[in-house]
Amino acid sequence: MKEEYEQARKDIENFPLDFYICGFKSYFDDDVKLKCSECGKDVFARIYYPRNIKIICVECVVIKVKKGVKK
Ligand SMILES: [Zn+2]
Repeated sequence: MKEEYEQARKDIENFPLDFYICGFKSYFDDDVKLKCSECGKDVFARIYYPRNIKIICVECVVIKVKKGVKK
């Protein structure tokens, strides 16, 4: 992996995130296909995606946010 990507991944991993949100479309040749940890759908992430954070798709994160808002 390119050094700049390696640094980008470290920066993301050091940020206190609950989820890493991914979309259903790939926009770059070196995007990586992953699975949403909630629904299992195929999602795409940049090559420097964090390895230590749950991957979640945009649809699942919307469900979570709505649940949180309704309380
Ligand atoms: Zn999902």
